[in-house]
Amino acid sequence: MQKYNFNAGPCVLPRPAVESAIEAIRDFDNTGIGILEISHRTPGWERIMKETADLWKELLDIPDNYRVLLLGGGASTQFFMVPANLMKTKAAYLQTGVWAKKAIKEAKFYGEVEVVASSDDKNYSYIPKGYTIPADADYFHITTNNTIYGTEIHEDIDSPVPLVADMSSDIMSRPVDISKYGIIYGGAQKNVGPAGVAFVIVREDILGKIDRPLQTMVDYHTHISDSEKNRSMFNTPPVFPIFVMHETLKWVKEQGGVEAMHRLNKEKAGLLYDEIDRNKLFVGTAAKEDRSIMNVCFVMNEEYKDKESAFLEFAKERGMIGIKGHRSVGGFRASIYNACPKEAVEALIRCMQDFEEQA
Ligand code: PLP
Repeated sequence: MQKYNFNAGPCVLPRPAVESAIEAIRDFDNTGIGILEISHRTPGWERIMKETADLWKELLDIPDNYRVLLLGGGASTQFFMVPANLMKTKAAYLQTGVWAKKAIKEAKFYGEVEVVASSDDKNYSYIPKGYTIPADADYFHITTNNTIYGTEIHEDIDSPVPLVADMSSDIMSRPVDISKYGIIYGGAQKNVGPAGVAFVIVREDILGKIDRPLQTMVDYHTHISDSEKNRSMFNTPPVFPIFVMHETLKWVKEQGGVEAMHRLNKEKAGLLYDEIDRNKLFVGTAAKEDRSIMNVCFVMNEEYKDKESAFLEFAKERGMIGIKGHRSVGGFRASIYNACPKEAVEALIRCMQDFEEQA
């Protein structure tokens, strides 16, 4: 039976990227040995590192004064690397969910944190608006897509202080005006590869302004200065996840880049939200204007609440994987990242319609 993968991350990857990863495990770059067995100091690997950084720059139109770093430790490591490198006395955060809260917790190790607004009063079902970013903050941190709650900041906002964005779950889903950001970071395991590597896009001039001594690995300069020669290879890089990232970015480019991805993502999300709004059984959980085009969260309408597990079972029988909502929202979540084909969304919609008919 055809399976449709709606997992929230790790999640569906482009098929060609998976196929070349399988081949690379057998034989990388015609070396006669697999990618899991090569030295990261071989020319073949250095080429992959360079090409991967170049694909990032090309796809997101990253200006020359930014560096692209590919590091271990996931987005969660960036929760403390960002304040360690940027915070002198105070930082401002927008609290739009659990991931933002975790970032705030880590920032508090380094100084004062001003939470400019929070949507926890309504279980993070909307993006707060009308807040003021303090001009004396060393940076302002946002989470552009809230994976668990299905809310998203759709625009590149203006900030009087360096803007730092966790884009773990919407990077490469739309064009971004990089010049509005000081740092963009995230874990790869949604739109840009498998788990095991994090990306950091950093504007160089915002660094070097703090007095605190930093551990070598925590200091962005370590990875930047090394990237002159070796590109994020101060220590052994996560070779295999970076290879799959390379193949995933190549695929994004072949699809027509981030603008084409954005068009398709809006179309897929539009179809699914239309069905949620039309179908009497379901109701969306996020405020309409803040609905994510990556994670579509919905629950059973109050009068059909008892049918939740029946729908999950029904959907499973139709090949739907990973549509159970996160425990803090309940109901259902369909993650429809770049590599999720439109056919998967259409199959889910048919499934919702068929269930409605028999309900
Ligand atoms: N930030 C967001 C928005 C996420 O969705 C996640 C994971 O799902 C994280 C951070 C944590 O990422 P990692 O597991 O790479 O540390």
